[in-house]
Order: sequence, then structure tokens, then C-alpha cells
Amino acid sequence: MKLPQGKISGILIGSALAVLGLVAFQLTWMRYSQRLSEEIFNQRVSMALCSAVENYKGGILCSSECVAGSSGSVGGSASASPSVNELRHDSAFNADLRKALDFYQIKLDYQLDTTEAKPAQDNCCAISLPAAPDADVQLSMSFPDKDAFVLGGMNYMVFATVLILLFTIAVLLMANWSLFKQKRLLQTNVDFFNNMAHEFRTPLTNMGLAVNMVYRKHPELSNSPLLGILKKENERLMEEVDRVLHLASLDKGDHLIKKAPVPIKGILQAVLDDMAMAISERNAVVRLNEIPDSWQINGDAVHLEKVFRNLLDNALKYSRMEPEITISVSEDPKGFMISFQDNGIGIPSSQCDLIFKKFQRATHSDIHDQKGFGLGLAYVKSIVELHRGSIRVKSEVNKGSRFDVYLPALN
Ligand code: ADP
Repeated sequence: MKLPQGKISGILIGSALAVLGLVAFQLTWMRYSQRLSEEIFNQRVSMALCSAVENYKGGILCSSECVAGSSGSVGGSASASPSVNELRHDSAFNADLRKALDFYQIKLDYQLDTTEAKPAQDNCCAISLPAAPDADVQLSMSFPDKDAFVLGGMNYMVFATVLILLFTIAVLLMANWSLFKQKRLLQTNVDFFNNMAHEFRTPLTNMGLAVNMVYRKHPELSNSPLLGILKKENERLMEEVDRVLHLASLDKGDHLIKKAPVPIKGILQAVLDDMAMAISERNAVVRLNEIPDSWQINGDAVHLEKVFRNLLDNALKYSRMEPEITISVSEDPKGFMISFQDNGIGIPSSQCDLIFKKFQRATHSDIHDQKGFGLGLAYVKSIVELHRGSIRVKSEVNKGSRFDVYLPALN
């Protein structure tokens, strides 16, 4: 049985991409937050600066309201105003400014400067004072520790982001690790199961040979029920072992199909002849609808016979009353639809897809005694698909099931 190697690599690549995407997204988001914090900082500084200028000596620098911004201007009369240069050394103004900055929770050392043109871009806010004698210069403010202050305010965000990322990576690593462990365990079980099936084959073959030898050497025992049971159970076990080995070899990539023209009627008739005993044991009625001799498919007769045997065997097995089974074949331009209709216990519709998977059996409420490993239909499906065909089931609980096998015609 093959493990979904591609799926596991897909999960690994997918989770690595998800982590990378998450990291990229978080970095962009943090950069955006940093810019936003900087803008808020500049706005607060401007507001503090405006407020200090407004309050200076009862507002001699202002005649109108101060406009806050990353750079602004304050209008007023020039008569009693100090120059911008004097203002920046004025202790009362600096005390007011300190108070305003504290009010806005900016507890940082600052520098006041005069700038001729636009303020420097970094660490700086500026204001024009048209009421001052040197109105052509601006009063600007800078903070040497601004970057550390802004980033400091984002500390918790960086911390939370790193923590979430580490947690996500750890969870993904653990999930992938447990996936790998499960895969290894599953592979070990599968190998063991396949090896066991392989080891069972030789003793089962020998037992079959021994039973046949007894039949040949002691014809008087040919009607012995005990020998009959031995032979039947031996054949049943051989069939299950062969299915396991066949599915294992298919999963390994060995496609053991040898195609040749196969007459549909002939092969179905051979299956019916082969199973005549089982059919009569179950008091079943099996109808094979008219099939033209010319209808042929390009396939492996040995495997196709096993496919049809499986379907007929299931139709006999999964019935409560006397089974009535109809086998019919219809033609379309590209191939043939071979249908097995029974009046058995049916399959719940939720399980109609499941039964084609390995080791899966439908849960029938009132039939618990039917033996099987749930490998028959998995084998049937794999063989049908190797012939580029398809299989589907239509079923109604307690009314019956119809298995439709579509196989391409000879071309
Ligand atoms: P097994 O018969 O060994 O269990 P299969 O793969 O042949 O394995 O079948 C899988 C399951 O599908 C069966 O266990 C049964 O529940 C259901 N099933 C198959 N064929 C029929 C049918 N004709 N009628 C009702 N149930 C069926």
C-alpha cells in the first residue's frame, strides 16, 4: 500500500509557505505601525509646541488660534515679541514647553533650533512665528532619542508578534513531525502486512496442493464435507492473500496488466460457470442478459475475470433472502457498461464512495457475519482504472445495489 508521499510534501511546503507569508505580513504590519506611531509622535510634539507658544507671556506671540501639525504657524503682532532665537533660550518658554511635552507624555530630552528653510525631516517639528521680528526663520524641535522612544512604545507589539510567530512555527513543526512519525509507523505496518501476506502464500499453496492430492489419491473422500471446507477456506484465504499482494505491487508501481482482446460474453460466462457451486449454495438466480459474441474489450482476461467474480461474489454475499442477480451489458460508441444488479441489503448512500477504498466496509445494521477484509472493491477499482475504465455504485438500503463497470472498447 502506497503512502501519500506527495500529500505529505505538499503539507510541508504549504506550512513553510504559510509561515513565510505570516512573517512577511507581520513585518509589513509592524512597519506600518511604526510609521503611524511616528506620525502620532510628531502631532503631539506640534501640539505641545503650539500650546507652549500660545501660553508664552499671556499669548504675546499669538493673536489667533494656534494650528497644530507637524509644522505650523502662529500669527500675532510683532511689537513685544521676542525673536525666534531669543525664544529658544527663554527659560519660561522652555519650562512651558517641558510641561506641555509632559502633558502629552513625551518625556524626552529635546533641542530647540532655528531653521531657515523647511525643517529637517528626522527628529524634528517646526513652527513659524510671523509675529516675531525674525519671522523668516522657524522654531524647530528635535529629539535625539526619538527612534528609541517610538520603538519602545511598540515593544509589546514586537514581543507579542515574535511570540505568536514562534508559537505558530513550533505548532507546525510538531504537526509535521507527528505526521512523519505516523507515516513511518504506517509504512512499518504496511510492510509487515505485505510481508505476512507473502509468507502466508507458500503454506497456503502447499495446503491446497495437499487437499487436491487427497482428492486424487482417495476418490472415495471426494464427497467429504470436511475436505470440502478445507478446500473452500483455502481458496478463500488464497484469494485474499493474492489481493493484498496484488494491491501492494500496484502501489509499488508494477502494473501487471497484459492486454489482449477479450470477449465480454465469454468472460462473464466463465465466471458464472466457475461460481456455479456458490450460486446454487445460496439458492440464487443469476440472469445473464443477451450479449453479442462480437463485443470485445482490450484487457487482461485473468484480472477482469477476478473483477467480475468479486462483484458477483459480493452480490451473493450481501443478501438476506434468495439472491436475484442480473448481469447486463450495454454498448456506447466508446465502450461497454457491464452492470451487476442485485436485490441484496444495499449500501447506505453515505458509504457508496468509501467501499472502494482499502479495508473499508459498509456498516450494515443487520449483517455482521459476512467475512471479508474490505479489499475486494479496492482491487476491482484499481484493475478497472488500469483498463482506463470506471466503476460506480447505485444502491438503496434493503432494496439492492447496482455496480456499473465501464470499460473502453477495442480501438
Ligand atoms: P469485503 O466484501 O471483503 O468486505 P469488498 O471490498 O468487496 O470487501 O466490499 C466492501 C464493502 O462494500 C463490503 O464490506 C460491503 O459492506 C459493501 N458491499 C460490496 N458489495 C455489496 C453489495 N453487492 N451489496 C451490499 N453491500 C456491498
